[in-house]
Amino acid sequence: MLELISYFAQNSIALYLAIGLISLCVGSFLNVVIFRTPQMMEQEWKQECQLLLHPEQPIIEHAKLTLSSPPSTCPSCHTAIRWYQNIPVVSWLALRGRCGSCQHPISKRYPLVELLTCLCSLVVVGVFGATWQMLCGVVLTWVLIALTFIDFDTQLLPDRFTLTLAGAGLAINSFGIYTSPTLSIWGAVIGFLCLWIVYILFKLITGKEGMGYGDFKLLAALGAWMGPMMLPLIILLSSMVGAVIGIILLKIRKENQPFAFGPYIAIAGWIAFLWGNDIMKIYLGQ
Ligand SMILES: [Zn+2]
Repeated sequence: MLELISYFAQNSIALYLAIGLISLCVGSFLNVVIFRTPQMMEQEWKQECQLLLHPEQPIIEHAKLTLSSPPSTCPSCHTAIRWYQNIPVVSWLALRGRCGSCQHPISKRYPLVELLTCLCSLVVVGVFGATWQMLCGVVLTWVLIALTFIDFDTQLLPDRFTLTLAGAGLAINSFGIYTSPTLSIWGAVIGFLCLWIVYILFKLITGKEGMGYGDFKLLAALGAWMGPMMLPLIILLSSMVGAVIGIILLKIRKENQPFAFGPYIAIAGWIAFLWGNDIMKIYLGQ
């Protein structure tokens, strides 16, 4: 592993190529994660509800949906997608954005998520170089992309990602990768509490629920990765990102859709993760 790191430290082009290709393939997998995780959760909820309400009835075993089975098919004609039709970006371009057998259009979002995953991962390489910070940061980037799109689609931030991310942040900072173990723990605690307090106050004043517990868990996770000093910046940035994207969405959709806060926290967290120290230095004039 150390030999590999020193090789990539000397050959930055090889490093960019390796991470670029891996993250393109991961982007393709993230499309599946984004599409199937909400469906998997719904399937689990239905089973749990049935167990609670009608425990006497046998559970009807539907074909259980997982990330790997059943294999991907065209949503229109249900033809299985072959491996050579599943190459990131290239296949979509070769098929001109249409299904190979029924010509049903395939959403532009698939190649865009793949490209976005690749670009964001390369930015992380550019910031951190051949280091452990880069390797963990690339994985953080992948999970944040999945969370952003899932929350955008469904207003859900699945625990399986937010809590895993929080645990991973605590674990890697036990080695002091980004911040000290103590600051990592306080980052998680304060990250959760500060949004929770906003949520309680907002609920007391307006009687509405403005955020979900998923938002607190996501901010707790980011706190665990970066420590508590970065949290004010993340909250500030997320409201700025939210304002910008909110205006763009309002222009595109012209309708008031349910409001997801998670994507803004995720994007702000990613910016703070990469350039937070630089931004703080500029503003604090150090
Ligand atoms: Zn088709």
